[in-house]
Amino acid sequence: MEIVLASRNKKKIAELQALLAESLTDVKVLSLDDIGFFDEIEEDGETFEENAMIKAKAVAERGYIGVGDDSGLTVKALGGAPGIYSARYAGEHGNDALNNEKLLRELADKNDRSAAFVSAVACVMPNGDSFAVRGECCGEILKEYRGEGGFGYDPLFYYPKLDKSFAELTMAEKNEISHRGIAMRAFAKKFGELFFRA
Ligand code: IMP
Repeated sequence: MEIVLASRNKKKIAELQALLAESLTDVKVLSLDDIGFFDEIEEDGETFEENAMIKAKAVAERGYIGVGDDSGLTVKALGGAPGIYSARYAGEHGNDALNNEKLLRELADKNDRSAAFVSAVACVMPNGDSFAVRGECCGEILKEYRGEGGFGYDPLFYYPKLDKSFAELTMAEKNEISHRGIAMRAFAKKFGELFFRA
């Protein structure tokens, strides 16, 4: 069986493939490039789930089992921001340094620095049937950068249980507890129940 993750990010494709392989054999994860899908998918949803669903649906409309994911950081004292706008919080898409600086500025006078990374994964079948799952990982926003690894907001995201920032974790440690790891494993479980244990 083939499924298509609505992404061109090779790391995400490999991550989902590895997670699915833990419990399901014979499921191959393809990318948008693999199926010749070169259009931009407009992510104009208002929630992580809506955006994940929009991406999965775009693929399902071409006759494939579509999987979409959307993730970001939500900060309590900022009313949930940056939320679905995490990648372009400071205006420029994907500028991690500017996004992190803006986050520190916005939180400068706040006492509550609690935050959560959120990831939604949606699956849409060619016949329109769908489901979505969510993963969350709670932590706090640091006042200074810690660690060299990861990407995005990782150097500012402190995970109390391990007393480390996300940028101080190995990839394996992060996959174990991260929002995306949790959501992807929940997706793999549900997908397996639907297709392999019916
Ligand atoms: P995406 O939906 O996975 O592409 O994530 C959107 C944005 O959320 C990224 O550009 C990052 O700014 C932020 N983000 C999502 N997941 C993570 C993470 O694991 N670490 C740090 N930042 C993340």
